Amino acid sequence: MSSSFIISLDFELMWGVRGKRNIASYADNILGGRTAISRILKLFHEHDIQATWATVGMILARNKEELLEHIPAVLPEYANQSLSPYQDIYSEIGNDEKEDPWHYGASLVDQIKDTSGQEIASHTFSHFYCQEEGQNIGAFKADIQSSISIARAANIDIESIVFPRNQMTKEHIDCCFEQGIKNYRGNTETYSYRPRKVSDITPIIRGIRFIDSMIPIEGDHSYSVSKQHSGIQNVPASRIFRPAQTGAKSIVSILQLNRIKREMTKAAIAGKMYHLWWHPHNFGRNLEENLDNLKSILLHYQIMQCQYGMKSQSMASFAKSCI
Ligand SMILES: [Zn+2]
Repeated sequence: MSSSFIISLDFELMWGVRGKRNIASYADNILGGRTAISRILKLFHEHDIQATWATVGMILARNKEELLEHIPAVLPEYANQSLSPYQDIYSEIGNDEKEDPWHYGASLVDQIKDTSGQEIASHTFSHFYCQEEGQNIGAFKADIQSSISIARAANIDIESIVFPRNQMTKEHIDCCFEQGIKNYRGNTETYSYRPRKVSDITPIIRGIRFIDSMIPIEGDHSYSVSKQHSGIQNVPASRIFRPAQTGAKSIVSILQLNRIKREMTKAAIAGKMYHLWWHPHNFGRNLEENLDNLKSILLHYQIMQCQYGMKSQSMASFAKSCI
């Protein structure tokens, strides 16, 4: 079986960082992330890269009226109310993308759709948290229905989903399948990346993830994936592509890039799949450095393609081709 290189991006603007950040502290990252999307698409085009853009449904609304039209029939009732975006829609969200580029992004979705090989997937409608206290499957189902309906209004058929904060249970995965979604991004199959609520991600877990991003303490993260006979297809994540923390090339960033390239090489030789993911807003600061790092990964992919026949695929195209 030939090897595959899969990229997925969690496209969420402010909807994904609410509760942790606010406009005052994070506006520049979000605006930088918007610029990053055009530049990333250009690199994807130049290197013939397919990718999946898992997009928060609310981003697709062209204005507040359209956003309100698609509000789910059942809203989440998180114990931590600040996780729910719905109170903000009436008080803090602007009318359209021109007035509020931190929450609306239909023009960016158009750019993604216009670039060949790009898949628009779901990142739920509201950046729904499947493992936080107070959530329930009824609210999740309503959220997914809204995600599908707002996408349909933009002529997008949702085939794949990425769960916000990588929180998922079998019940949530089955619910997506019932709603017609065919593929999901499962978590990296190691101890430190098991699905957990945010409060369970301790400093030790974060430390293991950070060290493993440079040195293989949790092994190599590539997979032999077979098509599932029934149900939804898991397209598991290998690794997050961590953003550069400074404008200059740091030793950490060099070690992280080398770790990714070594894993890609092993996957290419073994005929496995390697799945890299990140958020566009991770590129919002140190944009040039991050784009340089991405370019070096894409050049490495092209070497793997020439030497071992590795193929670039979106989650949907990979799921269709896997045997
Ligand atoms: Zn997210």
